[in-house]
Amino acid sequence: MSDTDSTSQSDTLRTPIVAVLGHVDHGKTSLLDKIRGSAVSEGEAGAITQHIGATAVPLDTVSQMAGSLVKPEDFDLPGLLFIDTPGHHSFSTLRSRGGALADIAILVVDVNDSFQPQTEEAIDILKRTGTPFIVAANKIDTTPGWNPQEGAPIQKTYEEQSQRARSKLDEKLYEIIGELSDRGFSSDFYWRVQNFQSNIGVVPVSALTGEGIPDLLGVLMGLSQRYMKDEMAIDVAGPGSGTVLEVKEERGFGATLDVVLYDGTIRAGDTVVVGGANDPIVTEVRALLQPRPNAEIRTEKRFDKVEEVRAAAGVKIAAPDLEDAMAGAPVRVVGDRDLDEVVREVEAELADIEVTTEEEGVVVKADTLGSLEAMANALQEAEVPILRAEVGDVAPRDVAVASTAREPEHKVILGFNVDVLSNAEAELDKNDVKLFEDDVIYQLVEEYEDHVNEMKRAQQ
Ligand code: GDP
Repeated sequence: MSDTDSTSQSDTLRTPIVAVLGHVDHGKTSLLDKIRGSAVSEGEAGAITQHIGATAVPLDTVSQMAGSLVKPEDFDLPGLLFIDTPGHHSFSTLRSRGGALADIAILVVDVNDSFQPQTEEAIDILKRTGTPFIVAANKIDTTPGWNPQEGAPIQKTYEEQSQRARSKLDEKLYEIIGELSDRGFSSDFYWRVQNFQSNIGVVPVSALTGEGIPDLLGVLMGLSQRYMKDEMAIDVAGPGSGTVLEVKEERGFGATLDVVLYDGTIRAGDTVVVGGANDPIVTEVRALLQPRPNAEIRTEKRFDKVEEVRAAAGVKIAAPDLEDAMAGAPVRVVGDRDLDEVVREVEAELADIEVTTEEEGVVVKADTLGSLEAMANALQEAEVPILRAEVGDVAPRDVAVASTAREPEHKVILGFNVDVLSNAEAELDKNDVKLFEDDVIYQLVEEYEDHVNEMKRAQQ
C-alpha cells in the first residue's frame, strides 16, 4: 500500500453492532432466532449474511421486515449486525477501546417475570459502559385475552386489543418502566418516546409470534441513524481493528480467533497484533474464514476463505502463534504504521482493563478479559479483596498462589467459565484451597459469600 492510500480518508458508515442481553429464559435466543428466521423467509438469497459470531441484516431486509417503519430512503446506515451469542457474558467480552463493542443493546425482559438478577447485572453493565439500549418487553402473547397477530407491528395491534388484554399488559409494562425508573432511567412505551437519547423505548414483543419485531427493528434503525451516525463513520480502507470473541482450535488450522471487526479492513497476509496472555502476539494472517452456508458439521470444509473483510463484520482468523491469545483482547492490523506503535496501542488497551489486586485476597480465573473485569467489579462491590486475577483455566500455579493467602477465607479460587487442569485438582486438597466454579457471576459471588458465612458460624 502506498503512503497516500493510508492517509486518504474514505469515511463510510458502517453497520451498527447490536447485542442482546437479559435474564436467562427471558427469550434472548428466541428473539434472535425469530429476527433471523423472519429475515430469511422475507427475502430470497442475501436476506441475511451469516458471519462468524454475528448475523448481518442489510437495510433492504430490515425495511422489508419493518414495513412502513423503515423506509430505505430515510437511512444511510447499511443495516444491523447482530452478535449471535446473547447474554451479558459475551457483551462484556466484546470490548473496544475501553468501552463496549456493541453500539446498541436490546435488553430482553419477560413481561411475566420483570426484573431478575441478570437483568440487574445487564443494566449495571450497560450503565457502566454507557451503551444506549432499548427494552424488548417479551412474551406479550401470554397476556390473558391477547389476540395475536403474527409478525405485525405492535403499535397498531396494541390499539386493536380488548380493553382487558390491554390493561393486563399495561400493568406489566408499567412495572418494567418502574424498575427502570428506580435505577435512574426514564422510559416509556416506545411510540410515546420523543427523544431516544434521554428516554428508553420499551417495545412490547413476542419472540414466539413475531409481534413487535417490526417496531423493534424500526427503533434500532431510527436510534442508530439519528444519534449514532458519527460513531458509525469509519475509514473503511484503513487498517482493521477488532476484538477477539473466542479462541478456538479448528482442525487443519490450529488455534484460530473469532473476531468482530469494528473498524477498517483486514486482508489475508496482513500483519496483526493480538493481545496475549503474556505479551502481545505479532503474527501474519494466513487465512480469513467465513462459515460456509449449510456446511456439514463433521466435514473439514466448514469455512470459505475470503481475501478481505470490512467492518462491521465477524470473521475467523487463522494465523500462527495464536495459542496465547485471549478472548476479549484487541486485534489490530499494522498496515503501514510502525509495528512498535501498534504493539504499544494493544498493551495500553489491555492495561485499561480494570482489575485491582491487593496484597491479600482471593484468586480469580475467568475465560475472558471482559468476564474477568465483571468478576472483579462484582467482588469489589461485595468487598472481597483480590490477590490475583487472570484469564485462563485453573492451573497448579493458581493453587500455589491461593495457598499463600493469610486469611483462611481467602484461600480460595473463584473460577468463572473455566476448566480445572487435572494436575491442579490434586493440589487443591493438598494445599487446603477451596475452589468455586460457576458460569453466572452473581451465583459465584453468592456461593463464596455463603462459604465465608459458614466459616464464621463454625468459628463461633
Ligand atoms: P434465553 O435464555 O433468554 O435465551 O431464553 P430462550 O429464548 O431460550 O427462551 C426461554 C423459553 O421461553 C423458551 O421455552 C421459549 O420458547 C420461551 N419463549 C421465548 N420467547 C417467548 C415468547 O415471546 N412467548 C412465549 N410464549 N414463549 C417464549
